[in-house]
Amino acid sequence: METARLERLHTCLFRLLMMVLVVIGGLIALYFYQGGWDRMQQSRFLARVIPDLFPGPRVAIISGHRGFDSGAMCEDGTMEAAVNEAIAQGVAQRLRKAGVAVILLDEYDPRLEGLRARALVSIHADSCIDQSGFKVAGPEETVIPDQDALLTACLIDAYARGTGLPARPQSITQDMTQYHAFQRVSPQTPGAIIEVGYLGGDHDLLVNHPEIPAEAIAQGVLCFLDAQDRAQKTPTVP
Ligand SMILES: [Zn+2]
Repeated sequence: METARLERLHTCLFRLLMMVLVVIGGLIALYFYQGGWDRMQQSRFLARVIPDLFPGPRVAIISGHRGFDSGAMCEDGTMEAAVNEAIAQGVAQRLRKAGVAVILLDEYDPRLEGLRARALVSIHADSCIDQSGFKVAGPEETVIPDQDALLTACLIDAYARGTGLPARPQSITQDMTQYHAFQRVSPQTPGAIIEVGYLGGDHDLLVNHPEIPAEAIAQGVLCFLDAQDRAQKTPTVP
């Protein structure tokens, strides 16, 4: 008598457990069906915890002039390409620590052709004159104006706060808005070029403390990735 009741209870519990498992399995399948795997691949958290399985969002950084020429050359021997490189390396290192997969590119890197990435940022420095300030520009022609504007805004905000340098949007040139790499990467890759300061007036910051601009640019990129993730989670009402 007692054993029969116990057996019924066991069968009942077993069925309940199976139902719960089926429901959980269904929810997981639905999550993957709704693009969950892609989201997991882009997760910075998972990339930090299990980097072998989850690459994290991919960002491309161009070390300005690298593999091509020296860029601006100052009388004291300061070379723009070397300044750009120190900052670009710092940006890559910081982003990787934050779970972002970074590809560090030369100025005319063949990998730019059709490149798909969550963002492309090119790092350059301004001339040797005794002026101070930075500027950021996105492509003049683009099919993703909102994304480009968001990347530019994030970089300007983070760079101004991180370095204390003034933004100089009035001195943005066509060399920046028609930058060659903007035309070579995939039209779906948001892009920006930053002139991190003047080799003349901002010499001390750029040459002696490249970690400060590097941290500021990394923060700008992370601001952009976070804003993109938030936008994806909140679907816009038509
Ligand atoms: Zn340059």
